[in-house]
Amino acid sequence: MKNKPKILIVGGSDAGLSAALRIQELDSSITPTMVLADEYPNFSICGIPFYLSHEVPDYWHLAHRTRSEIEALGIEVRTSTRAIAIDPKAKTCRLRLLNHSEEEVQYDKLIIGTGAESIKPVIAGLNQPGIFTLRWIDEARAINRYIEEHRVRSVVLVGAGYINLELADALTKRRLQVTLVERNPAVLKTVDIELGRMVEEQLAAQELNVLPRQQVDTITRHSDRLVVALASGKELSAELVIVATGARPETSLARSCGIELGEGDAIKINQRMETNVEDIYAAGDCAETFHRLLGRSTYLPLGSTSHKQGRVAGENAIGGSRQFHGTLGTQVVKVFDLVVARTGLKDDDGRRFGYDPLTVAGEYWDHKRYYPGAKKVLIRLTGDRLTGQLLGVQMAGAAETSVAKRIDTAAAALFAKESVDDINALDLSYSPPLNSPWDPLQSSAQDWLKVLAKIN
Ligand SMILES: Cc1cc2nc3c(=O)[nH]c(=O)nc-3n(C[C@H](O)[C@H](O)[C@H](O)COP(=O)(O)OP(=O)(O)OC[C@H]3O[C@@H](n4cnc5c(N)ncnc54)[C@H](O)[C@@H]3O)c2cc1C
Repeated sequence: MKNKPKILIVGGSDAGLSAALRIQELDSSITPTMVLADEYPNFSICGIPFYLSHEVPDYWHLAHRTRSEIEALGIEVRTSTRAIAIDPKAKTCRLRLLNHSEEEVQYDKLIIGTGAESIKPVIAGLNQPGIFTLRWIDEARAINRYIEEHRVRSVVLVGAGYINLELADALTKRRLQVTLVERNPAVLKTVDIELGRMVEEQLAAQELNVLPRQQVDTITRHSDRLVVALASGKELSAELVIVATGARPETSLARSCGIELGEGDAIKINQRMETNVEDIYAAGDCAETFHRLLGRSTYLPLGSTSHKQGRVAGENAIGGSRQFHGTLGTQVVKVFDLVVARTGLKDDDGRRFGYDPLTVAGEYWDHKRYYPGAKKVLIRLTGDRLTGQLLGVQMAGAAETSVAKRIDTAAAALFAKESVDDINALDLSYSPPLNSPWDPLQSSAQDWLKVLAKIN
């Protein structure tokens, strides 16, 4: 019988596990080995805010599968094991175990899924008790412990991207007084400022303190409180500070063997997830992302993308020829009762990549107005003036207005590279309590075409 390939996967989160599952699905006689630096294989990092809010009662509920369930699928799992160097000529990978001993393992194919790490901004006094970054389950558990042990009543969140917005909601549910500090003019810079302002209104309605255009200079401790000094001279005081100002790809292992980096200093890969080093693949937050609309690589680290890339890497590592079809940067976040979502390009992205974008905004009922409970959805639709191609859509609405699914319709249209006009032809569902004969996305496409006709 032919020898089965030795597949080594570094990383046990979305990308690593997706690769392992795909290998098992295609050839159950292969036992891939998955090594991970921490103790949490197949945990949902995306679920951390909901553990910290206590909507998810304990951290271990965030495991999609337990370790024994993964092992029962035919995947060898090695936790608390860090891969520290690769020798591509000898096809070996050096591992450091919890007791600091080292071991060399052989591979035929290697998949790197080492994820990303939190960016630590330059703030004096950042390394003190009570100040945390948030990415790993261990960090989430430490924050939870700190809140309980120190009876924390107030928190300053530095950075107002989607992670800290989810945390603002979560920690308000824990009855903490929340202050959000953001250096940009509005929160959630991944969407246009108009949507960012809607999020700010939502936060203000919940009596949160939101401070845009503010930069943190220093943090000092005064007995049980942390004093956060802003560049403007203002001072904030809280028992807890959480810094979430972005993430950068974790590429130290890849660099150990000369793997080339690309966009965003992430591992350069092709659409088969191959790196420039033979028999080594990369997927997830450590790697670049092919952008479907732009036809080029970008860095857009997301859980949804990591799963897909991992699956492609797994399939190709055992002889497949699957291509990753690309991302559109589709994202959604729920902040209290407001859901904000985007897919594709905004005006400024479009311009940067050589389009002639036109964005038209409108508000549309989520279902027929005569049926109780109708609410408006704000849509900002961006298309190219010259070609009429759909470039991107942003949406915001109350949680009941199905914004998360409505953005997916737009994402599907973008995936198919449709024009704005094509959206009107989509056969979308209608019943008065749920939608209108023209879905809000279609009404917005019609408004975009009207505006275009006026200005042309
Ligand atoms: C709080 C939070 C909320 C989020 N919410 C969402 C969301 O709602 N939607 C969404 O799409 N995305 C979300 N994300 C992003 C999403 O979690 C990431 O895109 C996803 O986890 C990336 O998966 P990954 O497998 O590439 O890497 P990671 O999840 O970063 O995992 C990396 C893995 O590699 C291991 N590792 C690293 N270095 C080594 C080494 N040298 N040796 C061995 N093992 C190593 C780690 O232990 C870990 O197992 C969120 C992120 C955070 C932090």
